[in-house]
Amino acid sequence: MRISSLSEELLDLVYPSSCIGCGSAGCSLCESCFVSLAGQSHVGELDPHGDGTPAAITGYRAACAYEGVARKMVLGLKSSARRFAAPLGLLMAAAFGNDPDYLLCDSVCFVPSDRKKIAQRGYNPAEVLARSVALHVDRPLEDRLLKVRNTLDQDTVRGTDRWSNVVGAFAVMPGRAAAGRVLLVDDVLTTGATAGSCAAALMKSGASEVFLLVAAKAILRREG
Ligand SMILES: [Zn+2]
Repeated sequence: MRISSLSEELLDLVYPSSCIGCGSAGCSLCESCFVSLAGQSHVGELDPHGDGTPAAITGYRAACAYEGVARKMVLGLKSSARRFAAPLGLLMAAAFGNDPDYLLCDSVCFVPSDRKKIAQRGYNPAEVLARSVALHVDRPLEDRLLKVRNTLDQDTVRGTDRWSNVVGAFAVMPGRAAAGRVLLVDDVLTTGATAGSCAAALMKSGASEVFLLVAAKAILRREG
């Protein structure tokens, strides 16, 4: 166990969690706030990237919209609060419900993070979420992808440049070729460029299909 998660669990013992939505004591997300967030789950389509190449994934499922309480939980997960992994994982499982594409996947994989960011946080939030989702679907969690070239932070890139920024930026690690149907997990989905690049790498290595599941979908504002 890492020091950061150990200290977080000790803190939880001394100062028991309160609901991040309404502040009620007892757990990090109460039942009523859970139900309200679960109502945000949705299926969506990714924007085409416009260069004529077929996309490895065209749609996604998201547990929540990236705003309000869901945004607080995802940001909390990024900044060290691993206690949000379980409720977010449960919300993600609720988001695919009985969809056989997700339930009958062969393995669960996640969008890799920069080594520098992992060194700062001690973990990759997408991996923490994927571990929780893998338990729900009872499929193996597989660490397959790595970043093979540096990219600009997607948050600093606008519009269609987001696609060119990440094309070919991810690859499957040697000896970890994908097979069958892969459930790809990430924390936040913006344009889908990063997840699309990861899905392309998984398909190239042997996956038959890739399904994307995210904790939260960012609301895109029209760029002027
Ligand atoms: Zn609550």
